[in-house]
Amino acid sequence: MELIALRCGDLRTDVGGLVGRRASGVVADVPIMAFAVDTGDGVVVFDTGMHEACCGPDPRAHFGRMSDVFELRCPRHALVDERLRQAGHAADEVRWVTNSHLHFDHAGRNGAFPAATQLVRARERAWAVARAGDGRGFLAGDLAAVADTPWDYDGEHELVPGVVLRDAPGHTPGHQVLDVHFDGGRRFVCIGDAAYTLAAVHDATPTGAPADAAQAVATLVSLRAAADAGATLLTAHDVDQWHDVADVATVHRA
Ligand SMILES: [Zn+2]
Repeated sequence: MELIALRCGDLRTDVGGLVGRRASGVVADVPIMAFAVDTGDGVVVFDTGMHEACCGPDPRAHFGRMSDVFELRCPRHALVDERLRQAGHAADEVRWVTNSHLHFDHAGRNGAFPAATQLVRARERAWAVARAGDGRGFLAGDLAAVADTPWDYDGEHELVPGVVLRDAPGHTPGHQVLDVHFDGGRRFVCIGDAAYTLAAVHDATPTGAPADAAQAVATLVSLRAAADAGATLLTAHDVDQWHDVADVATVHRA
């Protein structure tokens, strides 16, 4: 089994505004990380980065106000399916596509894997559809390519032995993390936007604007417990965690 990190472009923004909702004057390229697991019984892609409109002449037509808040930095070779190809996997090898949640930097390219089964939680889709285009991260153009097959779970859903989707609400109601257990004992949790930084997990302080702050704290406490028990947490946006990954990297193979 192999866990691969895919850097699908960056959001250039004031990091204070992103983390604490207060401008700090520090502008940085915040990575947009997606992940793939070659399970040995099919490849799963967890998060799909931004829509290809980010590479086109008029990003605002797709991204609306998001392209004012963030400078979207995603050349075509950084789209999730291109990154996956650079890591040695063609798009049609992907068996499942799933998303931590449906914000524009996590669900823009579900349509790039037409042969895959999309595992989109019904509660997340309903929340996103009701808020599409309101300027808080859900885009109608992304959701058009997000499957509306009724599917959901409570607690956790095992894809294959050792690869588990786990309910992690707070940032959004249907937010989930991907928990990957390797033979030999290593465990990794791709935490989506449960927190943007590892420091925020450690402090159990939600970043951004969670839909439910109490749920977000409870999720961070459980992720911190996982880390204390030996799991490595993999963020979607921690500048320091991913500073040496410019394109793709094998996180672990066993
Ligand atoms: Zn995000």
